[in-house]
Amino acid sequence: MKILVINAGSSSLKYQLIDMTNEGVLAKGNCERIGIDGLITHKTDTHADQHEADFPTHAEAFRELVRMLTTGDHKVIADMSEITAVGHRVVQGAEMFSSSVRITDDMLADLETISDLAPLHNPAHIIAIRACQSVFDKSVPQVAVFDTAFHQSIPQKAFMYPIPYEMYEKYHIRKYGFHGTSHRYVSAKLAEHVGKPLEKLKIVTCHLGNGSSITAVDGGKSVDTSMGFTPLDGIIMGTRSGSIDPSIVTYIQEKENMGPKEVNDLLNKKSGYLGVSGVTSDQRDLVDAAAKGNARAQLSVDLQRSQIKKYIGSYAAAMGGLDYVIFTGGIGENSAETRRDACKNMEFMGIEIDEALNQSVHGDLKDISAPNARVRVMVVPTNEELLIARDTMEIVNA
Ligand code: ADP
Repeated sequence: MKILVINAGSSSLKYQLIDMTNEGVLAKGNCERIGIDGLITHKTDTHADQHEADFPTHAEAFRELVRMLTTGDHKVIADMSEITAVGHRVVQGAEMFSSSVRITDDMLADLETISDLAPLHNPAHIIAIRACQSVFDKSVPQVAVFDTAFHQSIPQKAFMYPIPYEMYEKYHIRKYGFHGTSHRYVSAKLAEHVGKPLEKLKIVTCHLGNGSSITAVDGGKSVDTSMGFTPLDGIIMGTRSGSIDPSIVTYIQEKENMGPKEVNDLLNKKSGYLGVSGVTSDQRDLVDAAAKGNARAQLSVDLQRSQIKKYIGSYAAAMGGLDYVIFTGGIGENSAETRRDACKNMEFMGIEIDEALNQSVHGDLKDISAPNARVRVMVVPTNEELLIARDTMEIVNA
């Protein structure tokens, strides 16, 4: 069975074709500048191709990626009938979707009713899903996999905000949490790797990339997570502030004479590592700048690492124990310095990293703890596309 995994934005469409017999990636790529002009990047084991194209809508992008998969030197399947199903990443499923579902007309109508909760993402997903349906035969199952679904197990005491209850009833304002596919994938992968039942483990998963979130996974279920109503909440990120005192918002609005859209922009696009350092949102560049003596670059990584540490501590307290800490995402998998500093001085709670092991991680799943550390610190590379493909296969087979 071959499954096409789609991660669509308003002007882009990332894809992977996965062969489920060995879970290998046959091809992957990205259609960009949809609605502007068009550019496709396509890679297989033996070929890499990039060319301009005409993508007035997502439908033309789908047709072009199918053409790349089925013709020429970059061909990996004979024709599109080899694609058994399509799995779509959907950012917001709200309280409506607590697991992956098969896409139907009714389901899409329901999904449309919650677009307000993720205006930058969900409308684009729906447009892409409809475009995909127009290009593929109706008999090809389409499945939606939600970033929020894994966090629907969070209890009310952790998902409610202490604002008037009517805000929850009227506008569905609550913590939803994001990156759920990644937190679910790495926690399950770890349990499989160490040969222990996930139901018995207390894990803190740190997904650190351009967007970052930290989750308490107790017995395989998310019981709390750092992102909230939107992906702006939680720890400092590339350009996002993470949690701040809410009154800062109105204070800046008054002082800088800004409207809600401008403050939203300031907090989402001009804050985080970029805002604090004043130089970059990229972790590698930040570390380079800090090494050259840039004090604000150093400050932004110090903020990041102390915040990670506080989440680990508070989630261990919330779960009443801790067996594993997982680092994943571009930063979590690659930055030994982040892992080292975030776990520094944590021996009191059983966390101790072996620095030689920490430095020896190169894209592999690895235990980087000191031999006698009670809590094991692990690096587990994430694979959200694979989990989307697995969910899709399961739903198709059911
Ligand atoms: P996204 O959230 O967009 O998927 P990624 O998970 O790819 O992002 O993470 C991107 C971040 O990972 C960037 O800040 C990048 O600098 C960082 N990163 C990638 N490789 C390294 C590395 N070797 N050392 C430190 N940071 C790294």
